[in-house]
Amino acid sequence: MTQLLELVTALATSCGDRRSAARDLAHALGGGDLLVLLRDAEVGAFLPAPGFPQTLMGARRWRQLADECLVGGEAVADRMRATSDDAPRPVFAIASSDELILAIIGVGTRPRGTEEVVRLLPLLGCVLRGERAIEHATARERVARQSAAHAERLAAAFDDSRVRLERALATAEESRRIVAEANLQLQDQAAEMEAQTEELASQAEQLHRMNVELGQARDAAAAASEAKSEFLATMSHELRTPLNAISGHVQLIELGIYGPVTEEQRAALERINRSQRHLLGLINDILNLAKIEAGRVEYRIENVSVTELLDDIAPMIEPQIRARSLEYRVVLPERDLVVRADKEKVEQILLNLLSNAAKFTPPGGSIEVGVAVREDRPDLAFIRVTDTGIGIAEDKLASIFEPFVQVKSGHTRPAEGTGLGLAISRDLAIGMGGDLRVRSTLGAGSCFTLLLPSARSATHGVSPLDSAVRTGEPG
Ligand code: ADP
Repeated sequence: MTQLLELVTALATSCGDRRSAARDLAHALGGGDLLVLLRDAEVGAFLPAPGFPQTLMGARRWRQLADECLVGGEAVADRMRATSDDAPRPVFAIASSDELILAIIGVGTRPRGTEEVVRLLPLLGCVLRGERAIEHATARERVARQSAAHAERLAAAFDDSRVRLERALATAEESRRIVAEANLQLQDQAAEMEAQTEELASQAEQLHRMNVELGQARDAAAAASEAKSEFLATMSHELRTPLNAISGHVQLIELGIYGPVTEEQRAALERINRSQRHLLGLINDILNLAKIEAGRVEYRIENVSVTELLDDIAPMIEPQIRARSLEYRVVLPERDLVVRADKEKVEQILLNLLSNAAKFTPPGGSIEVGVAVREDRPDLAFIRVTDTGIGIAEDKLASIFEPFVQVKSGHTRPAEGTGLGLAISRDLAIGMGGDLRVRSTLGAGSCFTLLLPSARSATHGVSPLDSAVRTGEPG
């Protein structure tokens, strides 16, 4: 009996090995094994109590019986009969709806002296229930802790999401503001571009109109220029005829055809002659210029010996040189230079240059004509007319080649002339594939250089001044 009590106490106190205690109790009661079931109020059925051996044969069947007993609310030991003799059968069972405990001890035979065990079973029930409650509480606490942790994590995640959402909202708002601003700017730009396009279109239209007008003006100017050249050519021709007649009549009077001529009359006739020559020169110049401008000048290009040319000119210029008491020098190269040019036109140019030199060089001065070729430009001949005259101011040098330009020389009265000579000379030089250039120092003298294609280069059909020399030093 004492042993039984000890075993039940051992089961109830939960210290030590419950399994072996349960087995020993079963043996002490004369059975083979022990099954302890605990009624689970939540589930509403008897379940094996934790920590006890659950291997008793037919445990399921006994659980059903226990359920039935509980419904009946009475001890059911006698109702649990073994289905066969050798099968284990319940020898003791307690079912109580208050204790919620059922202990069934499966043994082969009815045990003896179990009263104390019966007495102690409620104690076992209390312990088990307490354990069960602790277990539940622990499980609940664990679940609660887990839930709290989960809730905390959820809260943190929620917080994080909220912050991110807020940020996203702020970013979206900022983006919306930027987009709205950009939209406004784009609208402004579009309006501006539209205005610019309109302005461009109107400018294009204006340009087109101006182009048309310019074209018309250019055509009109060309037509006017042609008409002017035509008019000048006709007028010059018409004027020369009566002038030549005047000259003829003067000569007849001078010869005494119409009776004796007094000295006074002769002097007057000489003055008429001079004026007539001047007028004729002027008309010839205008005619020349008109022809050049109208592109009607014809050039008879041939090989021209520069030495011969200068020999021919010398007597023509001599009276002027002598009248001004000037020194005249010609410096020729050892080998005669031959140029490809229109001889008459070269003569006309050189006579103009020499006559200017004589005109603008005070008495006692000198004029020199030099002829040279330069090693770097063997295709050109350089004919220079240099004087020690009044010179030309630097800022006037470009304009003296313009038609009708005469440089005012300060205190001296305007020189005789038309201001056409240099314009014509340079046009003629260019027309022959050459050029006319000037260097001068005011008060010291001038040097005009006539450039002409030398015969050697011209035979190759090259226009020497098409390229480099036109902008370079006159040489
Ligand atoms: P013109 O001699 O008939 O007036 P040009 O065309 O031959 O016309 O010359 C234009 C001007 O250039 C001259 O009026 C003169 O002022 C200046 N000029 C030309 N040659 C010389 C020279 N050798 N020395 C100084 N001035 C000159």
